Amino acid sequence: MAEETVYQRLKAAGVSRRDFLKACGGLAAVMGLQGAPPVAASGLPAHLARGGDPAPLIARALATKARVPVIWLELQDCAGCSEALTRSHSPTLTDLVLNSITVEYHETLSAAAGFQAEEAKQAAMKKYAGKYVLVVEGSIPDDGIYCNIGGRSALEILKEAAAGAAAIVATGNCSAFGGLPKASPNPTGARGVWEIIKDKPVVNISGCPAIPEAFTGTLAHFLIFGALPELDELHRPKTFYGHTVHDRCLRRPFYEAGKFANTFDDEGARQGWCLYKLGCKGPTTYNACAGIKWDAGLSFPIQSGHPCLGCSQPDFWDGGGFYQGQSAPLGRPGIGVAAAAAGIGLVAGAGMAVANRAQKKAGGEA
Ligand code: SF4
Ligand code: SF4
Repeated sequence: MAEETVYQRLKAAGVSRRDFLKACGGLAAVMGLQGAPPVAASGLPAHLARGGDPAPLIARALATKARVPVIWLELQDCAGCSEALTRSHSPTLTDLVLNSITVEYHETLSAAAGFQAEEAKQAAMKKYAGKYVLVVEGSIPDDGIYCNIGGRSALEILKEAAAGAAAIVATGNCSAFGGLPKASPNPTGARGVWEIIKDKPVVNISGCPAIPEAFTGTLAHFLIFGALPELDELHRPKTFYGHTVHDRCLRRPFYEAGKFANTFDDEGARQGWCLYKLGCKGPTTYNACAGIKWDAGLSFPIQSGHPCLGCSQPDFWDGGGFYQGQSAPLGRPGIGVAAAAAGIGLVAGAGMAVANRAQKKAGGEA
């Protein structure tokens, strides 16, 4: 018997055709598939790269394709990425993606436990050999001492599950880059998945936690196109990690004007000025927070008055202190290229001129 398609599954759950098509449009937007620039950047087939509406293609794919089997490992983690995903506030979109996959094994969400759960995982790995997506949450410690599950080491469990995977999604900073467990002095020898598994495609959805839409958008890309999206040099999807937080930050005009908060309760903080001097890592952090935001687009840390900690970058825990004052703006990494790509319209020369002006002001501005 043919396997149930995504649309059949949603229809059986009472989702109307209209809501399904609406969700496909939302999914296209999250995946960065609307409009020529993001489409071109996402490495799509030529007919889509010309800027056509991708929603009908997504709808067609979801109406005809069987759901993707997923095996989800939790290793050295806090389950925060699972929490963020299951608490996601875009129910239609999240439902769409979560109905697009069958979670065959998830240590936290599975009803089964102990031997029963381990047997279910073994059965799923056999049944879907070469076809399943392996999702990994949490870092991997040195073999044999820490994080043993069912009498087996995390490293052994990862290698076994990776062997039959079509692709691996490392979600959260821990599984991508080692995260908090890797913070100095890294007592467990924690590492990210891509440092260990070299013979399978690995995509890193970094963040602490990962933005749910970045995770679901990546899974949806795999389901619809049968391949991972275009990645940056740290294996992160360019659609979600192609710009710094600073590139799209709502406090950016204050940065450009040289207006910085010096304490969390001064006049600058009250006026919503730039948080760079309070340790903001936005200029060197690649993530989609300032665009997608959190809680259904309600806000993100900088909007709420907290500097970016750089949680989607490698080794951010050891980056020299979260709130360490920075006396003047950096050399503005990527401002010319990234800001221009974001449509801000700055060119490198003008960007540096503004940077120099801001740098001068940063010394004197209260
Ligand atoms: S330094 Fe931080 S708060 Fe200031 S504009 Fe950049 S990202 Fe926003
Ligand atoms: S603003 Fe920075 S620290 Fe906060 S969630 Fe986004 S990338 Fe992470």
